[in-house]
Amino acid sequence: MALEHLIFPSGELGANTALFWCDRTREGVLVDPGGEPDEIFDLLLSNGVSLVTIVLTHAHIDNIAAVGRLREDTSCGVALHREDWPLWEAIEEQCRELRMPVPDLPEIDEALCEGVPVLFGRERLDVMHLPGHSPGHCGFLADELSLCLVGDACFSSAAGRCDLWRGDETRQEKTLDRIQRFPAHWTLLPGHGPSFSSADVPRSRRLRSTNF
Ligand SMILES: [Zn+2]
Repeated sequence: MALEHLIFPSGELGANTALFWCDRTREGVLVDPGGEPDEIFDLLLSNGVSLVTIVLTHAHIDNIAAVGRLREDTSCGVALHREDWPLWEAIEEQCRELRMPVPDLPEIDEALCEGVPVLFGRERLDVMHLPGHSPGHCGFLADELSLCLVGDACFSSAAGRCDLWRGDETRQEKTLDRIQRFPAHWTLLPGHGPSFSSADVPRSRRLRSTNF
């Protein structure tokens, strides 16, 4: 039994998107589809993956722009932490600010919760609530790969910004403390750019002012 995965950038802002699937049942989970739904759909087909759920680290437009189309094409569920549901509903405001087209978004089906794993086939991703960049920001842990998707909480050279839509520096500090406690051999994959390890977190504490 093995957990298969692919990581690739998608969308205008190059969000790191991840596809995980169970090699026995071919059921899969997609994280943060930021755009290019046709290419992602082709990837599902070419790997024979049946998409169970799209899970989102948070509800900024660059992480969610392809959700509507993929949901329509696959009938998968969509899961987001409840504290980010207001951001999901404010999609028009986000797009206006960034001068990006407003995508059609479906209803959220499931509230992500720390302690409640995301299940697909015989595999799982564990959920960590990592607020600060946004209130409902989550990370996803793939234990057997020693891999955690930390979204926009922390990058290889800076922490995620907290000045957008109910970001919170105090919560972000606690989130960075948690990320710093990961064993050094774990791969931490941010929402954009290259991966890093927990040893890089101290120098990453400077808040990032660019990116989304
Ligand atoms: Zn973001």
